[in-house]
Amino acid sequence: MLPIDLTGKNAFVAGVADDNGYGWAIVKALAQAGATVRVGTWPPVYKIFNRSLSLGKLDMTLAGGGELQIEKIYPLDASFDVPEDVPVEVADDKRYKKLTSYTIQEVAEELKQDMGKGSLDILVHSLANGPEVQTPLVDTSRRGYLAAVGSSAYSLVSMVQRFGPYMGDEAAVVSLSYLAAEKVIPGYGGGMSSAKAALESDTRTLAYEAGRRWGLRINTISAGPLSSRAARAIGSIEKIVDYYKVNSALSGVNSALDVANAATFLCSPLAAGISGETLHVDKGYNVMGMTAEDQLGKE
Ligand code: NAD
Repeated sequence: MLPIDLTGKNAFVAGVADDNGYGWAIVKALAQAGATVRVGTWPPVYKIFNRSLSLGKLDMTLAGGGELQIEKIYPLDASFDVPEDVPVEVADDKRYKKLTSYTIQEVAEELKQDMGKGSLDILVHSLANGPEVQTPLVDTSRRGYLAAVGSSAYSLVSMVQRFGPYMGDEAAVVSLSYLAAEKVIPGYGGGMSSAKAALESDTRTLAYEAGRRWGLRINTISAGPLSSRAARAIGSIEKIVDYYKVNSALSGVNSALDVANAATFLCSPLAAGISGETLHVDKGYNVMGMTAEDQLGKE
């Protein structure tokens, strides 16, 4: 047997607010492997996520038995690095007003304090935000484009910069990308394709820079489509899921569990030689050069 054993490891998963997305699946897989998991939740959905948890509305069962324990939930807005970045209208918004310490720097400091002497072993970036995602790139405003790249790609740079100094020697960072970084996906607009391209390129450069500086391994997973809350904002996610189902190398629907297991592997010592990689976990959709629909039933 070659198990993934993350017992004694501290993980922080940024971008969890319900039990539908990739972040949640990754939290569960990391916990199943024995890691202590803390999560970062976007302030606008922080209260509702906490309420769902306390009302027992989320699926806490771990594959193989046992219940998920989340050590702590930190409010986190990955669009802001330090408190001075937060515009007054955001700070005064009722969903933010009662919260303190939600910028990346503040969360990094709080995590460090909370973990005491222990260091952070695993950092997962599972968040994205493109206010103009439904607008074709050619019509996207500068503001919308920069917001998408800032929240969805620079946030990884900022997290590595601020969390890196106290991450352990064999620590790992994983983020979530999408095929739109490499190929045209009609409807994935607003600069989100640009943000994913930046995320993948930054994964390589950060792998070298943070690898040499702090010994971090940094990888990204180019995940197949999943009908998460964020993906539903695109407007056509169900159609994309069906399209992948028919046209991927492997049959079956793309699964959050496949992505979560791959993320857990990348964060484990079994992946000690892997850094700077974009790993496709999409049932092999990305290798196809032609639709397969016409071939159905002929193989
Ligand atoms: P999700 O809704 O579960 O996760 C996105 C999270 O980002 C949400 O919890 C949201 O609250 C959070 N978020 C948004 N803006 C934020 C901010 N400024 N600061 C902090 N958190 C913020 O949806 P998901 O689809 O599982 O997305 C997770 C990651 O997977 C994203 O990077 C997404 O681009 C990527 N991904 C998704 C798909 C898909 O089809 N769902 C495919 C490939 C990659």
